Amino acid sequence: MRIVVRQAEMAALARRWQLNGESVGFVPTMGALHEGHASLIRRARKENRRVVVSIFVNPKQFGPNEDYSRYPRTFPADAKLCKDSGADVVYHPDVEQVYPPGFTTFVEVPGLQEPLCGRFRPGHFRGVATVVLKLLETTRPTRAYFGEKDWQQLAIIRRMALDLDLGATIVGCPIVRERDGLALSSRNVYLHPNERQAAPVIYRALTLAQALLKAGKGQKAALARGVREITSLIPDAMIDYFSLVDAESLTPPKRGQTRGLRLLAAVRVGKTRLIDNVPASL
Ligand code: AMP
Repeated sequence: MRIVVRQAEMAALARRWQLNGESVGFVPTMGALHEGHASLIRRARKENRRVVVSIFVNPKQFGPNEDYSRYPRTFPADAKLCKDSGADVVYHPDVEQVYPPGFTTFVEVPGLQEPLCGRFRPGHFRGVATVVLKLLETTRPTRAYFGEKDWQQLAIIRRMALDLDLGATIVGCPIVRERDGLALSSRNVYLHPNERQAAPVIYRALTLAQALLKAGKGQKAALARGVREITSLIPDAMIDYFSLVDAESLTPPKRGQTRGLRLLAAVRVGKTRLIDNVPASL
């Protein structure tokens, strides 16, 4: 497995593959890799001739009071996980390789970037869309793999790929969870033991609301019950949102809409912000 740190070298390698007609699977990550990332890499391995994983903690998607500087950085272990999962190349640029001096161009995805997490993390998705576009330009993948864990991000990337004729097929991959239901996340290491113990309540609340919706209990009641589950079982939890939306447009369900919905939650447990989501139908 090769480790590439220079943008120009990565771009040249990808162009060579493209000229040879070789399919390329690309998995963008911020490192601190876990089994969720590994599942994306293995899927890319199955479906493509070449597999590239990027590891880049993108400063443009962090707000001024967010965890950019303390985000976990575990490159040696990450490289091993990539190799074991079948990656051919790890693209690990530093900030200057991705953002040249004077950098000023951004991609916006209005409509999809403002609700849900966008309300609490202004500028976040503009940073995500911009770095993903740049990484797709550099690696020229046939397919790019994203986790459903970050549902809003996936919806935004799909829209951007369509709108900008990016060519790559965007592949959404199922959420990998701990045995107790907690979605794997690089940020789970921030949780104190008592917080870690309480955190699976978020997934349980989502599945509870999902079941109530399915049983016809009504949206208001189902969402309120989910919220109550969290506030009663995680006393110091701060719920940013617990929402039912159209899975693609992320807008409130239309009148009479019973399918293609998604229940999403973002909850702050102590200093750690956790997100999760499940499909929903009425
Ligand atoms: P990150 O390194 O957190 O930016 O995540 C990189 C990619 O891995 C994103 O597409 C995430 O959605 C995906 N991912 C993160 N956690 C999980 C998980 N538990 N299950 C599936 N995919 C995940």
